[in-house]
Amino acid sequence: MQQQQRAKKKNLTLCLASDSSPSSSSSSSSSSSRSPIGVHALVFAGGWSEADIVRCVTGAKTTGYDLVEVPLLDPSSVDAELTKRILEDHGMRATSSLGLSFDKDIASEDEECVRRGEALLNDAVDATAGFGGNVMCGVIYSALGKYPGKMSNLARKNCVNALRRVANRAADKGITLGLECVNRYETNVLNTSRQACEMCSDVGTSNIKVHLDSYHMNIEEASMRQAIADAGSYLGYVHVGEAHRGYLGTGMCDLDGLFDGLKEVGYDGPVTFESFSSAIVSKDLSDVLCVWRDMWNDSHDLATNAREFIRQRYH
Ligand code: MN
Repeated sequence: MQQQQRAKKKNLTLCLASDSSPSSSSSSSSSSSRSPIGVHALVFAGGWSEADIVRCVTGAKTTGYDLVEVPLLDPSSVDAELTKRILEDHGMRATSSLGLSFDKDIASEDEECVRRGEALLNDAVDATAGFGGNVMCGVIYSALGKYPGKMSNLARKNCVNALRRVANRAADKGITLGLECVNRYETNVLNTSRQACEMCSDVGTSNIKVHLDSYHMNIEEASMRQAIADAGSYLGYVHVGEAHRGYLGTGMCDLDGLFDGLKEVGYDGPVTFESFSSAIVSKDLSDVLCVWRDMWNDSHDLATNAREFIRQRYH
């Protein structure tokens, strides 16, 4: 099996293309060989009821993905045990992601607000552990939204200290945290790979990593390759999304540069396809994510197309 994995790692993308299904094998555990390929749950369902979970997990599996990324904006609404059981039934894995809100923000100067943000992160860590996830990522260091000004030193200090405590809790449960760099209109804390590396270094735990997203890199970075190189060994999670958040390859993002950059550094962490359409995303979340139009309305067609796009460029 190790030999096979090494062979895959070299260049047998064509071979993989004919056997992309993760099947029910447990051989593709996260620590082995190439990147697991994931899909954001919101490609398939707007909520997390039992029917939603089944739709997501089976949809992701039948379209060729290894894992599902579960949004944890409200961890209390996620039945972790049920999620775990459905994942296991289908031989699938999951990661989690969330963004904080302005009233629960660890990058705030207000201690109570920081405390509420930290409590939410702790709940999200517990939910992630509950369904067997080993990565929790997203804008977990700040409210997701446009700030009226630059981050203060006190806000950054609060953020780093809270992240360190949450990271220690996550480490006890075998979970790695990913700090997602997002564009300037969605945070004033981490817009670039370099800023995220600096924060990882300041937090100082081994389970805190940089999470890059092509949609945001397209706005803030010099190039896809440069951002990946800047992250270096801190790179732990990648979102692939188009500039307009719709079908891959139909927008302005340099996605060839993204995948070439990942191959050049030998990245083997998760790569997850992210796309939002108001056809699926609830009104509340649509408002947070600024989803004002339908980029697509057929989840399976979108997911199949994205999986093939990734296979042709990556594996
Ligand atoms: Mn993202």
